[in-house]
Amino acid sequence: MEHTVKILQINQITHDVKEFITDKPQGYTFEPGQATVVAINKEGYEGQKRPFTFTSLNDDENLGFTIKIYSDAHGVTDAMDDLREGDELIINNPWGAIRYKGPGYFIAGGAGITPFIAILRQLKKDNQVDGNMLFFSNKTTRDVILEDELRDILGDNALFTLTREDKPGYLNGRIDEAFLRKHVRDFSKPFYVCGTPEMTREINQVLEKMGAPSDSIIFEGK
Ligand SMILES: Cc1cc2nc3c(=O)[nH]c(=O)nc-3n(C[C@H](O)[C@H](O)[C@H](O)COP(=O)(O)OP(=O)(O)OC[C@H]3O[C@@H](n4cnc5c(N)ncnc54)[C@H](O)[C@@H]3O)c2cc1C
Repeated sequence: MEHTVKILQINQITHDVKEFITDKPQGYTFEPGQATVVAINKEGYEGQKRPFTFTSLNDDENLGFTIKIYSDAHGVTDAMDDLREGDELIINNPWGAIRYKGPGYFIAGGAGITPFIAILRQLKKDNQVDGNMLFFSNKTTRDVILEDELRDILGDNALFTLTREDKPGYLNGRIDEAFLRKHVRDFSKPFYVCGTPEMTREINQVLEKMGAPSDSIIFEGK
């Protein structure tokens, strides 16, 4: 079912990521980690739908989306970059496989952090963060979405790794087999994986090879 929502606020999060806060249709509910299909409510854009994850909480008054703008691609996010407060989006029902299934390891690349933002915010609100770890890979520090908040939620259990920059306080390199061997202590815990399709595929293969049961690996597309 489609709902038209109004953009109430737009916040710049990183150099190419914006947060869009919209009003919430009455009775609309979702679980942290879920997404919905979104289109811009302007002539010419109605049929161009893309999935975006809620980064607000179900109990919040409004909906929030954290969206990376691909300005050289002329797709939907490039057009979203021009949206202003008062413009409208068309959203659909919530859906998605990523849900919290107990303390484990969150593994994210770039904008793949969005389902985990919602889950970790909810865990913080419920005082249930203990036992969770985050491995978050980005190109450089300026690409890291909500680093301060993630460090605040997880403390030393948030590890940030950079693939194109070497900087104190950050690990260096991709999340690969060597990385996981070094930083994962318990392969029987749930693994939550979200990044580009290639990153998700690669990490899932490594995790299975290292003994993680396939039903304990939670990712979109399952
Ligand atoms: C379940 C789900 C939830 C999502 N949630 C979010 C979210 O909360 N925030 C967010 O910013 N994006 C999210 N995405 C990605 C989003 O749906 C779009 O694919 C992305 O924003 C690109 O759309 P576009 O129309 O601007 O670009 P397109 O014209 O579709 O593609 C432009 C360029 O971006 C590249 N690209 C497309 N998608 C991705 C991707 N996922 N990772 C890396 N490169 C990509 C393409 O290779 C292409 O070069 C989600 C995707 C899925 C499947």
